[in-house]
Amino acid sequence: MTKSNTPILSAVDLHLNFQTETGTTPVLRGVSFDLYSGESLGIVGESGSGKTVTCLSLLKLLPSPPADYRRGEVHFHGLDLQRAGEAELRKVRGGEIAFIFQEAMSALNPVLTIGDQVQESLLIHTGMSKPEAKAEVVRLFEQVGIPDAGQRYAQYPHQLSGGLQQRVMIAMALACRPEVVIADEPTTALDVTIQVQIVELLKELQQDRGMSLIFISHDLGVIAEICQRVLVMYAGQIVESGPAADIFDHPQHPYTQQLIRTIPRLDSPRGSFEPIAGQIPSPENLPGGCAFHPRCAMVMDICRKETPRLLRQSPLCEVRCWLHDPSHKEKDLTGKS
Ligand code: SF4
Repeated sequence: MTKSNTPILSAVDLHLNFQTETGTTPVLRGVSFDLYSGESLGIVGESGSGKTVTCLSLLKLLPSPPADYRRGEVHFHGLDLQRAGEAELRKVRGGEIAFIFQEAMSALNPVLTIGDQVQESLLIHTGMSKPEAKAEVVRLFEQVGIPDAGQRYAQYPHQLSGGLQQRVMIAMALACRPEVVIADEPTTALDVTIQVQIVELLKELQQDRGMSLIFISHDLGVIAEICQRVLVMYAGQIVESGPAADIFDHPQHPYTQQLIRTIPRLDSPRGSFEPIAGQIPSPENLPGGCAFHPRCAMVMDICRKETPRLLRQSPLCEVRCWLHDPSHKEKDLTGKS
């Protein structure tokens, strides 16, 4: 399914601070993006770049305090989710916007059967009777590829393999026919063969149901499999965005270029890849100027002093880097940098 021109969800200048005893820590620093109806949007970056926090913040799922949501807006069906009350948010969470988390085993309740857990979400969010909900759960299990769905209904999470547990999580997320599904590293805990199956399943379901998908991963290779558009995050900011094909074939930001080099290549020795040198900075200790400058091979004087803006490079692509900002040359000429 191709995306429509109307965003279904818009994050505008989302800032998130953690208020701690030692002070204010900026975790998100002005994140803005649109999610269109029926599209699959990837959010990629190393661990600690702000991907998961961005998605949890959309629905205010981080406890406040320490999370401070004061700045930014999230528009969804005429609501600003950052200003919405708990009752409105509860209706959206799990009903209209659903999550699939990384660790299925820790997200599932060990003392309830898998059937009852999925049924519970149907009973909360829809007007179904118990027999209707049970029949729907079996149908959902079949749809997500759980064999012997009728018998599996009465099993407990520990009786299932990691791949089947993740399929149960997907069934639970889909139960209320959400318009948006947010999948946070849903394949990371699984072995490679099962990872491929789960990515294929999500891709099929997203296309068949026409839902919008946000797929979070540190792995650009996985994002390439499933996403039409990509946001690259670093240190709580979007540093590049664009259609997946542009990001992979012509990455503009030095960080994206390095992330692409971390994808294992089929023609290189088994399992070899080039890791990015250095560490992502902690939010308490962000470098001045461009947060990537200590790790960037292209660093210039201005990068250490001034924060680059996210600038549109073409109708669909944006980059936050002084190399792609014409104003840095003017600054050089006027001696401001
Ligand atoms: Fe590298 Fe400078 Fe661009 Fe940052 S702004 S990515 S340091 S070239």
